Amino acid sequence: MNFTTTTFSRAQQWAQSKSFWYFSIRSGCCADEVLDAKGCRYDLERFGCIERTEPNQADLLIISGLITEKMAPFVLDIYSKMLTPKYVLAIGACACSGGLFSKKGLDEFIPVDVHVPGCPPRPEAIMHGLITLQEKVSGKKRN
Ligand code: SF4
Repeated sequence: MNFTTTTFSRAQQWAQSKSFWYFSIRSGCCADEVLDAKGCRYDLERFGCIERTEPNQADLLIISGLITEKMAPFVLDIYSKMLTPKYVLAIGACACSGGLFSKKGLDEFIPVDVHVPGCPPRPEAIMHGLITLQEKVSGKKRN
């Protein structure tokens, strides 16, 4: 007979990693790739990742495109309304580091859990970023 033991918090982390509800901010051309990842060919819902239209129903913020200093207060407002614990996925060079247009990436405004580089990153890279986040949240990955 086989036994599996775990703690409640580990089970909770695992469950959360398999059921992200995300709110998406699409402010650049990378948004097309996010939409592609969401579509029927790649289908983010296979990973339990479901889009919400209200930030207060979401625990994952997916940001694609440049966030300027002028936009930062709005992004912070959305971030503050989200459920806790909450996570951030930065998609593309603009979100990660400012890209061609700025020297400031998202890290300047909010904590980013996983960066997906590329200009734009392919949907496969976005899915890899999501899987990396799942591993991080479930405790499989330590950094
Ligand atoms: S990283 Fe490239 S593709 Fe993505 S928003 Fe910036 S310029 Fe557009």
